[in-house]
Amino acid sequence: MSLVLGVRARALSAVLLLAVLAADVMAATSEVRSVRLWRAPDNTRLVFDLSGPVQHSVFTLAAPDRIVIDIAGAQLATKLEQLSLSNTPITSIRSAQRSPTDLRLVIDLSASVSPKSFSLAPNQQYGNRLVIDLYDQGDAAPATPTAPSDKPGDKPGTPVAPPTTAVVVATRSAPTPMPTEPPPASLPPMPSGKRAIVIAIDAGHGGEDPGALGPQGAREKNVTLSIAKELQRQINAERGYRAELVRTGDYFIPLRRRTEIARKQGADLFVSIHADAAQNTSAFGASVFALSDRGATSETARWLADSENQSDLIGGAGNVSLDDKDKMLAGVLLDLSMTSSLSSSLNVGQKVLQNVGRVTPLHKRRVEQAGFMVLKSPDIPSILVETGFISNQTEAKKLSTSSHQQALARSIQTGVRQFFQQNPPPGTYVAWLRDSGKIAPGPREHRVASGESLALIAQRYQVGLAALRSANNLKGDTIKIGQNLSIPATALAAQP
Ligand SMILES: [Zn+2]
Repeated sequence: MSLVLGVRARALSAVLLLAVLAADVMAATSEVRSVRLWRAPDNTRLVFDLSGPVQHSVFTLAAPDRIVIDIAGAQLATKLEQLSLSNTPITSIRSAQRSPTDLRLVIDLSASVSPKSFSLAPNQQYGNRLVIDLYDQGDAAPATPTAPSDKPGDKPGTPVAPPTTAVVVATRSAPTPMPTEPPPASLPPMPSGKRAIVIAIDAGHGGEDPGALGPQGAREKNVTLSIAKELQRQINAERGYRAELVRTGDYFIPLRRRTEIARKQGADLFVSIHADAAQNTSAFGASVFALSDRGATSETARWLADSENQSDLIGGAGNVSLDDKDKMLAGVLLDLSMTSSLSSSLNVGQKVLQNVGRVTPLHKRRVEQAGFMVLKSPDIPSILVETGFISNQTEAKKLSTSSHQQALARSIQTGVRQFFQQNPPPGTYVAWLRDSGKIAPGPREHRVASGESLALIAQRYQVGLAALRSANNLKGDTIKIGQNLSIPATALAAQP
């Protein structure tokens, strides 16, 4: 009995030993577990989800255009058929296992692209990832790296025979242009030579960065995009203002790139929309952030140190022209410019906060200051609105409803309008309205007194009843004594 057991035990340990050896071989090989694809206006991002770190190289081949990705120590453990390649320059993706541990992926293209690739270490949401960004030609890749681990992926076009064992795993039909936003509501043209005030609206996160996650699968990136689009719609419906979205769909934009886009859009104000998350799921309320003084100061140093950004400034991309100033003076000027846009940011932030506080509880009653990278634009006043806690079940539910999104957007728009009516940039339609006395003067707030009706208040401030309702998110005409109403400062002359 004991002898038999001994033999069995030895046989068993042999099996175990083999299993351990096999596991060792397996451990040296990472699996490509899934592939995700995101299309942005100027690039296509492929994200390979891996079971462990890998080494990789990327190179391009022309005629026909292809991108070859060699991943060492990897096996493909997913099917790629589900990838939607529409609106991308990718026509198909082929894979070949060149050896048990060497995976080659070939991306067939309908147009040449500039690839950038980098690895990402695991985070809370994802494991190891390999990211391949394919920048459309004509749209230069951003000068700033898209990730700290960014490394040049291009290799000189070594001729490579297409892998013989390759199979077509994903194909698509002819390219179609990116869907564009519907044109803004048509408004009568503005007096000649008067420009619109441009608001850049930045929907936080996007693509493989979902942002905060809510209890019922609510994702910050979707909530922020919905609110951003609604805010754009509302702003564009107002004469003298134009809203531009920094992010127009579900794709990732690096933080630095967001302010670059806003600058290209000619933004007078940058509004970043987010939703908070906290360990404590009962935390709730909205908040508004501006850049902190400390952040601004260190950012000044960073701007001066970064020759690319500096040349961007010198090239006239910003409002600060430094080309004829020495470095010391340039630093002082940039600092002043930063301080001025910081005080503007605090000013507009306070107005937005007040109005947001009418439609949702506030987390903090003052504009908070923090070193958010997305706010670090020295020449554009910038605020970040945390619209609520998506980690809070009640708020997550509210944030996902279109009525609450509309109310939030309306409150942000009201604050932005109040700021620009007091501080219109020179040359704008709103500045012209103010200078020619066409903006309804007086307080922009009214506390309802006994005996007042909504119609009476509308008449007194010479604003439309509908505009008054809309500015206060009122469904009907019922108002309460002591209620604070925000008065939309309608341009009198602009009324049809
Ligand atoms: Zn966020």
